[in-house]
Amino acid sequence: MERMARRRIFGTIVALALNCCQALYVGVGRADATGPTTGIQLFGMAKPSQVGTGLHLRLFARAFVFVDDVGSRSAFVSLDAGMVGHVLKKRALERVGMPELYNETNTIVSGTHTHSGPSGFLQHMIFQFAGSGWVPQTIDAMSNGVATALTRAHEDVEKQLALGRGRRVKIGATVLRNASINRSPSAYLANPEQERAAYGDDNVDTDFFAVGVYENGESLLQGLITWFAVHPTSMNNTNRLVSSDSKGYASSLVERERPGVVAAFASANLGDVTGNILGPHCLNTGKPCDFDHSTCPVDLPVRGETQRNEPCAAFGPGVDMFDSTRIIAQRHKRALDLLLDADDAEMRTIDGKISYRHTYVQMPHLEVRDWKTGALKGTLCDAALGDAFAAGTIDGSGMFDFTQNATSNNPLWPIVTNFLHKTTPEAVACQHPKTILLPTGNMSFPHPWAPSILPIQLVKIGPLVIAAVPTEMTTMAGRRLKAMLRGKFSESEPNVTVVVAGLSNEYADYTTTYEEYQVQRYEGGSTIYGPYQLDAYLQEFAHIADAMLNNEPSPRGPEPEDFSDELKERFWKRLNSLELESPPAGADFGDIIQESWNGSTPLHPGDVAVATFVGADLKNDLKIGGSYLEVQRFDNETVWTTVFVDADPETRISCEDKHTYQEVSVRFDVPNSLLPGTYRLVHHGSARKGRKFGKLQIQMFNGTSSSFPVAGLAG
Ligand code: ZN
Repeated sequence: MERMARRRIFGTIVALALNCCQALYVGVGRADATGPTTGIQLFGMAKPSQVGTGLHLRLFARAFVFVDDVGSRSAFVSLDAGMVGHVLKKRALERVGMPELYNETNTIVSGTHTHSGPSGFLQHMIFQFAGSGWVPQTIDAMSNGVATALTRAHEDVEKQLALGRGRRVKIGATVLRNASINRSPSAYLANPEQERAAYGDDNVDTDFFAVGVYENGESLLQGLITWFAVHPTSMNNTNRLVSSDSKGYASSLVERERPGVVAAFASANLGDVTGNILGPHCLNTGKPCDFDHSTCPVDLPVRGETQRNEPCAAFGPGVDMFDSTRIIAQRHKRALDLLLDADDAEMRTIDGKISYRHTYVQMPHLEVRDWKTGALKGTLCDAALGDAFAAGTIDGSGMFDFTQNATSNNPLWPIVTNFLHKTTPEAVACQHPKTILLPTGNMSFPHPWAPSILPIQLVKIGPLVIAAVPTEMTTMAGRRLKAMLRGKFSESEPNVTVVVAGLSNEYADYTTTYEEYQVQRYEGGSTIYGPYQLDAYLQEFAHIADAMLNNEPSPRGPEPEDFSDELKERFWKRLNSLELESPPAGADFGDIIQESWNGSTPLHPGDVAVATFVGADLKNDLKIGGSYLEVQRFDNETVWTTVFVDADPETRISCEDKHTYQEVSVRFDVPNSLLPGTYRLVHHGSARKGRKFGKLQIQMFNGTSSSFPVAGLAG
């Protein structure tokens, strides 16, 4: 008792002392970054038939600007996107237009890695082949969203600087289990036993980090960043609705519970980690897949029983992918809530100086030395994808299934087949034991297929060190990077916290450890620069960490290429060139086609209401900052109040193409918490109505359903 009381008094004194001299100013901002939701292949699964038909959860950019007491500044932006590319970050910073304050060096832009965002924002050809090519509508929406969020965070922090009144920043860490599993455990097992033993039984990184931003002197929360390693692939490759997946869903849960708070759930070392925690099972037999190869027995007519990867898929923990997304999001939120409720020992107030280092590194042919001893390890190879890459993962089997795609009508296919197996003996030796499927580093027609210059970036905010990596590091790869940096910074400072900000600034596939690379699972097949790639990252991060510690500058390095202005839209047509739309005879845009309810029977929580409208292509207007739909409640006095919009998980909107118009369905899942009353569904659309002087004329329209009663929970 006495000890607890003493601790509380001590804590109060510390808190008072800290209140008197806050040293950090923190601005937060959020902006809509939703790109086209129809007609564009979703990015991540590389499945040509996975083309968007609507929206599950709107995509956002969430920005945080940190300024210390001498004016040093850094920004972190988390974007609901598959990843972030060099062009996206560059265009966003150009739009912000304050290069002295926000530039490539001090700003991190990190993708959450949702696999249900639109494609078309990465310039290198392999990624265009994996999506709908180059899509200006996607990259514009995403770079605008990042720029707007960052500008809002900037305005927020400038107000504090003008008043000389900063905010309190707390950081903490906890462990989150039961929200992730390793999808390549046989590769993980190749890591040294002693190293694995240091992390107990966990073959995934269970560290859950949080940064909380509070109004100074008060406990009012303003912003949150969390880092936890898991692929947001709860929405699987059968999904056709744009969605921010489990990470964005978690943001939505927190931001709705705490209005005004900007809550980013950012990506980390998720390379070999899935949220489909029921694990891989054979769709045909129901049994677990083969452990080493993630395959299932298939009986083929001529060949008899053979092992194939296609039937092996991981699911769970929900009854369907929407339910799994919700559950994984809720587990993120629960970990965060525990931290926010914890005492000062677990969430400690930080302050201190802000510093950053950034360098561009030419990866192919880089000489790699052990970061600690300086001993020569090897040389990086020209980028190449291995056979294991084509097999895909238990999150989406048979990605780029080249055997099945041989008859593809994709115009890029002949280019790819031309290069198949055309590779040099040097490249084969360099990439060993990877067998080269696509030597992307040597393919430059019509443009380069893989990046060769990568950004390496480190930001330090007091004791918080953020390593921004342009790749998907596996569990152990990320742990090695964190351990190296922790070791370096701990020499001069106690209690350093290191996080890996995944998929930041540019995208260059996966990074496994040297040992995992020998096993050549999907992640090893996608470690494009060869077996020493992780050691190269360790070497380069060690260099910029040393520069930071010694107060020296780091070299800028070679300028990365930007050929995005030369890119042609290959699979995507500009709105202007699409045919005009018109409603069916006798109907108007916004008319009701069908309603799922019968007006006299009340709906209950758990029920679903669907209204189908005569509509138009959703991508005619992205409704940035707005909504394609509203769920409205009748509040006496003829007033209808909006209760849900399209960014809410309770709603979905989807389209069925009828050639001259779309059948647009607005779906509402009645939640448990809903107030009994009278409700209706509203749709906001825009049709391609005509052309004037060659310019497309868009006609806005609205549709409103009949009303339906909702009763409380039965009983
Ligand atoms: Zn991934």
